[in-house]
Amino acid sequence: MRKLAAGNWKMNGLTSALAEAKLLATAYPNPACEILLCPPATLLAPMAAATNGSALAVGGQNCHQNASGAHTGDISAAMLKDAGATYVILGHSERRADHAETSALVKAKAHAALTAGLTPVVCIGETEAERDAGSTLQVIGAQLDASIPDGATAATLVVAYEPVWAIGTGRTPTIPQIAEVHAFLRARLTGLIGQTEAAGVRLLYGGSVKPSNAAEIFAVPHVDGALVGGASLKAADFGAIIDALSAS
Ligand code: PEP
Repeated sequence: MRKLAAGNWKMNGLTSALAEAKLLATAYPNPACEILLCPPATLLAPMAAATNGSALAVGGQNCHQNASGAHTGDISAAMLKDAGATYVILGHSERRADHAETSALVKAKAHAALTAGLTPVVCIGETEAERDAGSTLQVIGAQLDASIPDGATAATLVVAYEPVWAIGTGRTPTIPQIAEVHAFLRARLTGLIGQTEAAGVRLLYGGSVKPSNAAEIFAVPHVDGALVGGASLKAADFGAIIDALSAS
């Protein structure tokens, strides 16, 4: 399995930010792990062009579930692919919260991504209230069951565990808490898609990953990479996280 360092730029970055992507592409011509940047849609094609021929992959942050049609302001999976994307983040908690995206919708989007030849990075995670109530595994188990597309395989699916309360807050779960969830997800995936495929699905941790905590998180069994928000905006910070993943 090739581990994955994925950066989610969210709604950050103008044309000038492409310099950070170019720095990464130059710094990692032959990375030991896969490197993915998901910029805002406006930067997708220029980032793909600026890093063309490098080891850096680019991805979208969302797509529509339909292939085309009257959906003003939306972008299809094929359009992302056409712009140079090979991945798409789906079901991020900010989209689940801000746009009322359900797991059923995330699953439909993931199916559209697969149809277009994109690899979906399906995000799941509990709120702080759900963790406090002791229902973390129940919540993320249900999200996983309902969000992953039919026919998903190790080669066509990435799952990101992102506790909602850890995103952009500087707070992270304890190492045993991350270990518990990732072991649970591997077992749950085994029940959904079989042991052989489940063993190869990259399970990313996301939520306030930074250079100072990356190594201890990457040492956790079944953590196969990270989905990184704030710390992916600067090549120096993301590079330190890539280095930690490469050394794990
Ligand atoms: C994210 O947006 O997926 C994320 C994990 O953000 P941050 O790293 O900033 O917490």
